[in-house]
Parts: sequence; structure tokens; C-alpha cells
Amino acid sequence: MKPRIPTHLKQVRGRLIVSCQAWEDDAFHGPGLMAKFARAAFEGGACGIRANSPEDVRDIRATLDGKLPVIAIQKRHWTDGRILITPEIEDCRALAAAGADMVAIDCSVRGQRYGGLDRIRYVENELKAVAGADIATVEEALAAQEAGASFILSTLRGFTDETAHVTRFEPAFIEELVRVLRVPVIAEGRISTPEEAQAALAAGAYSVVVGSAITRPKDITVRFVKALRNWSERNGCYLGVDLGGTNIKSGIVMADGTVRNADSVPTPVAAGRDAILHLLASTVVGLRETAAQQHLSPLAVGISTAGWPDPGTGEISYGTGNLPDWTGAPVAAAVRAAVRDLPVFVENDANALAVGERHFGSAKDCDNFLCVTLGTGIGAGCFVNGALVRGAHFQAAALGHIEVEPGGLECTCGRRGCLEPYANASALLRYSGPAYGSARRVLGAARAGDEIAQKAIARLAEYLARGLRIAVRLLDPKRIILAGGLAQDNPFLVDAIAKAVDGVPVAVSTLGYHGGVAGAGAVARSGIS
Ligand SMILES: [Zn+2]
Repeated sequence: MKPRIPTHLKQVRGRLIVSCQAWEDDAFHGPGLMAKFARAAFEGGACGIRANSPEDVRDIRATLDGKLPVIAIQKRHWTDGRILITPEIEDCRALAAAGADMVAIDCSVRGQRYGGLDRIRYVENELKAVAGADIATVEEALAAQEAGASFILSTLRGFTDETAHVTRFEPAFIEELVRVLRVPVIAEGRISTPEEAQAALAAGAYSVVVGSAITRPKDITVRFVKALRNWSERNGCYLGVDLGGTNIKSGIVMADGTVRNADSVPTPVAAGRDAILHLLASTVVGLRETAAQQHLSPLAVGISTAGWPDPGTGEISYGTGNLPDWTGAPVAAAVRAAVRDLPVFVENDANALAVGERHFGSAKDCDNFLCVTLGTGIGAGCFVNGALVRGAHFQAAALGHIEVEPGGLECTCGRRGCLEPYANASALLRYSGPAYGSARRVLGAARAGDEIAQKAIARLAEYLARGLRIAVRLLDPKRIILAGGLAQDNPFLVDAIAKAVDGVPVAVSTLGYHGGVAGAGAVARSGIS
């Protein structure tokens, strides 16, 4: 039997229907606004409108002087807590009375459970109006056709429990519907480009409905914002500076964490705070010029520094003895004065390294971890539930200043018995005896089988484990990452720590010598995302 298509709906054949709907929380929800969208659609050449509620149907018909047919629905929060399309007989009557040219009804499995097919029969047989069935599968379409629906609309494909796996418009589904159905198929749902609309016609659709891609400014904005963010995350670069007591390391940090044009100059500690800030600013300016020569446009600057900066102001709230007069140093302001148009983010060096591990290193897949820096000092950065933990005074995770020997050795922080003087590079040399000359040589000797060197490492590991066990009890990390000079090429330390922290996996940082620079870049990256 050849389907009967009502004259007023014939004009949608091969053309565009625009769905004009806004939710209550949408900026465009309110009297008359959907009619304005409908008018814009009409002026743009659309030949039909899909609208929600009798009020909007009336408004739209009045605005367009009845020139375009209206497919009408009534969305309601239903008894199972979810939205249902035109769930009541009264809705069908009210929509028809408002001048709907077609009443569309949810005929998915769930819609049918709530009487969708009965309402199709009611609209067609009692109201003598045109019923359209919103469906998600071929079986649902066949049942709706059997009940007398004049049109099948693919609206719910991807939006029902059974089809939740579908996330894109599928022309093949339209093709299949067209093949098995007698009544015309209107393609609707997730059609977001003109090319997809063409594909719908190519698949045999009678007409094509486009909604969000035309009438939801918020959704459209989100698509652009996401696209730009994705591009920046893939292609953007950052200027990173790692400001330490010995060297200022710097480089251009690419989106994958690689460091280009890495450089290192001695920190002019003796020249004082202003000289250091001046060198920092000129380093950033130089990096930026280097980036420009390579046609790179940095998105932000990240500074990793000794001491504990307030990330809001970029000023050091508490400095250690590593850098002169560092408490109160206006680090961000000094850099901003030199590169006015780039955002600048400042972070404590141990925290920055943890951010680097999170973005580029051993913690990309890990929401809860502790990253421990072992060198001249002992520092740590900690992520809990995916967020960096800074604490009320930005000094959280100060692992080096956990008390491990009450009344013990004096620490740079002014207290006694902190972990740092028992587990830093000079401690290792103290345990091995001065003959080795440097911590690095102790590590080399240990690898070559030297028992004294191995015992010195074991002793250091014992102290470090005291601090780490406290941190593990407190934070329940999934992983501990060891970084810094004492962690590199030091399997004895890594094994000893792994045994001591019962069960928490211990990894070594893979960010390398310029890990601090990569960390600074990661701070910049997370600052703007
Ligand atoms: Zn201390």
C-alpha cells in the first residue's frame, strides 16, 4: 500500500526542518523566543519546524503566519524520573488544537511501555491528525508503523538504554529503516553538519531535522571551545623555568612534555633577590624570542621555584635559605612586567614536578600519588583525587620536614630532627664517609658492588621510609614516584623503599634532567585549562 502523505507535509520532502526547543535552564527559554528562532529558520530557507509545547506551536504558527508545517511534541519528566516525549492523550489533543501538523510520540521500547503505540492510534484514528513515531531501533519503527504512524523519525537513536552505544549520526540506520518501512522516514538526532544532512538524504530520508547544531547557542559555543582546547592541548607550547638555588633551568615545553631549547645558567645567589628576578624575567623574554623564531606561539609561562608561592598572587609566601631574601619575592609580577600578554603561573618546585608527572610522566593515569624529590633537599608534591594538594599555607606535603629523630640534627627550616638532613645528598656522603667525594660517586660505587656504599644507601633509605610510611598512612597513595639526583640510577634505594612502604608501588621519574622545566610547563598548561 502506498502511504498517504498529507499535502501540508509534502513541502518538507528533501528539505530541512529546524527543531526549535529550549530547556528551562537555557538562556533562550521563555515566551516568544522559540518563535524568533523559527522565524530565523524560515528566513534561512527551512521548510518545517519541530517545537515543544502547545504554547510554542501557537507562537510559531502566529509568527510564521502558518507558512511552515510544525511537528509538535510535549516533553515531560515522567514517573520513572526521565524525560518522555508526548506521554499523555491530553498532550496529543492540546498539540493538535494548537495547530500541530504532526504530533510526534516516543515509541521506543520505554515509550511503548507507557502506551506510545496507543497514542499513535489515538492521534491517527480519533483526532484524525498525523502521528509521527520517535524511535531508536528498526523493531520499534516496525511496531509504530503497524500501529498506524504516518512518519517514522530516528530521533531517539543513541538516546535510549538499548542504543546508548550510538554516539554519532548513522546514515546506515536511516538506510535500513527506509528499506524495511512503507511510511516515510525523517532523519533526526545528532545531525550536526551540512554534510551529515546530505548523507541523510542520500540514505533515503524523506526530510532532515536539525536541532542543537542550529538553535542551541550554548551547545554551539561548547563545540568551538572544546575544539580550540583540544587543539591547544595537542599543539600548544609553554615557557617553563625551574628556579633553584644552584641553577636556573629553562626551555620550551611542548604539548607532549618534551623540552626544546633546554638551557641552564647559574643562579646569581650572591647578587641578591632583584638580580635573580631580573635574570628570571630576561630568561622568559629570551625563551619567547626563541619560540617565535620556530613559529611557536606559547600559551602561558610556568615558573617552578624553591620556596612556597601563593599560586593566586605568584608571590613567595615562605622562602627557604636556598634563595636569598625569597619570602615575599614577587615572582609572577617580575615575569608579567616583561611579558605582559601571557598568563604566568608560579608553583613550588616539588609541586611542579608532581604536576609534570601528572601531565607528562609516571602519573598520567593516576589520581592519587606522591612525587618525592631527593637531592640537596627533600621535597614532595601530592595529588589526591586528581587535584594537587597545597594546604592552607601552600606548604602541604613538606615531607622533608617531618620529624624522624626528635631533638636530632638541625634543619634548614630552623627545627631539629627533620627528615631532610637524614635523607638528602649530604646525609648519604656522611653515611659513606667523605672519601667518595660526592653522592653521585657513592651511587656509582654501590652499583659496582661496593658494600660500604650500599650500606650508606640502606641507611638513608631507612630514614626516608620513616617519613614515607607516615605519608602513606595519611594519604593512601596509589603510587610513589621518586625523582631528583638521588633517585636516578639508584636501584638499591628504590628496592629498599618499595619494601618499606608495604605494597605501594614505587616508580622512578622518567622526566629526566629537565624534569623541573617540564613540570613548570605542566603548571602553565594546567593553569590555562
Ligand atoms: Zn625541617
